Amino acid sequence: MSGRRLLVRLTTRCNSACQHCTIADIAHHPEPRVEEVWAEIVRGRRDGCTELVFMRGEATLRRELLSLTRKARRLGYAHIQLQTNGRMLAYEEYLDRLLEAGMTYFEVSFFGDEAAVHDAIDGCPGAFEQASAGLRHLARRGAGCLVTVPVVRANHQRLPALVDTLHGLGVGRVQFNWTRPVQVDGRWVTGPLVRLAAATPFIREALARARALGMRGETEAVPLCHLAAEDRGGADVLEDFSRHQVADVHRREASMAAHRRVSRPLAPSCTGCSAREICPTTWAAYQELFGTDEFVPLGDVGTSGALADVGATGGALDLGAP
Ligand code: SF4
Repeated sequence: MSGRRLLVRLTTRCNSACQHCTIADIAHHPEPRVEEVWAEIVRGRRDGCTELVFMRGEATLRRELLSLTRKARRLGYAHIQLQTNGRMLAYEEYLDRLLEAGMTYFEVSFFGDEAAVHDAIDGCPGAFEQASAGLRHLARRGAGCLVTVPVVRANHQRLPALVDTLHGLGVGRVQFNWTRPVQVDGRWVTGPLVRLAAATPFIREALARARALGMRGETEAVPLCHLAAEDRGGADVLEDFSRHQVADVHRREASMAAHRRVSRPLAPSCTGCSAREICPTTWAAYQELFGTDEFVPLGDVGTSGALADVGATGGALDLGAP
């Protein structure tokens, strides 16, 4: 039985400049003081949390990350996870200090199969080389690692090739995240986005490629009707999100279970779908922008044996941020 999980945000600053940035809509909120973050971490332990996740922005930009990690381990957090663009992990001395402090898991964003694609999405030349070095360093140390890939217009056709790149870097687990549309200054940022129908054939191909290479492949916020039966599992479906609590720069959530249904509602067309109780659907913002015609109710196959198979090995420790 897993303990509770606390997700905290140390900053909304970042050393990358992704056009699709999914926290651009909260970047105007002030960064919490380290004392405030520590108070949340202590409160989380009192609530029974044994897992801690430092959410994006780029927490490695805050020098207090090391001391907070060290103190959190002493307080009893057994699992401490860092969401990062991976660029600071290119510096082996820094990575070793994180590991020594007690960081146990790394959730690294990665964007492209080659530098031209990755750096164009990241917005910073050299990001691909740095993140690639970071992943190699993690693999060499045997550190726990999940790579999350935001699916956007610029990379959606390259996802199968991206799996090959990650395999070559020693990555064993990849998750394709459907990108949440955001509004900045009252306007939707739609340029980087791609439609489900255009991208999900490449997601399915990438997941099959990962399987063939012996990697674990999953998705986040991809409707189950867009996935092959064998891919309708993973943490996004099987995790108990009522055990997740959030201390963000703009809100606190005692349980993510209810929030998920608000942020990813069922559509009218989901009514007759056999998977409606477990389906993560996709972002309300996407549904508002593009409608729900791409949701196709499943018959009995929605709860195939494949879910049970994945459930037997499904992880509850390494999800991405809400
Ligand atoms: S129809 Fe709706 S509930 Fe069914 S798989 Fe598609 S998005 Fe999910």
